Amino acid sequence: MSEKTDILTRTLEELKADMEEIGEKSFRAKQIYEWLHVHHAGSFGEMTSLSKALREKLEKNFEIPSLRTLEVLTSRIDGTRKYLFALEDGNVIESVLMRYSYGISVCISSQVGCRMGCRFCASTIGGRVRDLTASEMLCQVLEISRQAGERVGHVVIMGSGEPLDNYDNLVRFLRIIGDPDGERLSLRDITVSTCGIVPNIYALADEGLPVTLALSLHAPSQEKRERLLPISLKYQLPEVLEAMQYYFSKTGRRITFEYSCVEGENTSPEDAVMLADLVRGMNCHINLIPVNPVEERAFRRPDRRDIEAFRRMLEKRGISVTIRREMGRDINGACGQLRRSYLEK
Ligand code: SF4
Repeated sequence: MSEKTDILTRTLEELKADMEEIGEKSFRAKQIYEWLHVHHAGSFGEMTSLSKALREKLEKNFEIPSLRTLEVLTSRIDGTRKYLFALEDGNVIESVLMRYSYGISVCISSQVGCRMGCRFCASTIGGRVRDLTASEMLCQVLEISRQAGERVGHVVIMGSGEPLDNYDNLVRFLRIIGDPDGERLSLRDITVSTCGIVPNIYALADEGLPVTLALSLHAPSQEKRERLLPISLKYQLPEVLEAMQYYFSKTGRRITFEYSCVEGENTSPEDAVMLADLVRGMNCHINLIPVNPVEERAFRRPDRRDIEAFRRMLEKRGISVTIRREMGRDINGACGQLRRSYLEK
């Protein structure tokens, strides 16, 4: 091996092959994998059950990447924490920890920036800088778990970036974090959020990874959706919904629709009727999200009473719907804003 390999991105099978390549017995891979993904060793020196010679060999051929914490904001209301992390190349990303009665949930980023251009999103303003590797996604979970002193129970891939625009790294991350020999997080406790990259919805459905898939729907019609999500010009609403149905048929996972409520855009009584008609018959749940104002954009959130009324109209039409509980109101700000203000500084 010429360059050092990022050992956190290797699956157990790949690590076995790596061991053979450096002249070691393949069973060593299991020991190393456990050190990394069960004991969360941050250095080869901690792997005390391995010989010194092997540890030195690992040091020479591999690296264990890590994140540097630049800033942590903690909510006094509910303990939600926002993290600003520096990657090894100096790029910065955001992640969030949320506390629920059933444990802690972590929202991670999948790219530095994003190229999807959703109109209400701060993460996309500077475009996409680069994809995150599987280990950079994993490190967000591990670092937050380490700092919180608790095991993470849920992971939501809903921070900066479009996960299905970074498909191979996403799938690698899911395989590693869900591996019963390693991190052991149930795939059912992971949610991947997409704005609707149709070919990769089909691909994910066929991977045998039953994560929850959430579609950023945000509008009840193609015409309205185009105003909020430019990607919908490429992948039109009927084909996106068909892909989501396929995902459900292959995985049995109920579909989630994320619906950001934007004043004057998508929460009128007509919108409620159109939305109910659009999703009727699908095994789905709608999450209403009061949009976070972004300085650079003109969108505002509707009055709370209007969102409640919108929810009731959907419920009356038999649609399963909730308004997302706002976490960390005092440290709020849209996804990507902490990073933007850091970059501006
Ligand atoms: S909402 Fe998600 S997909 Fe859309 S621009 Fe923001 S980060 Fe990208």
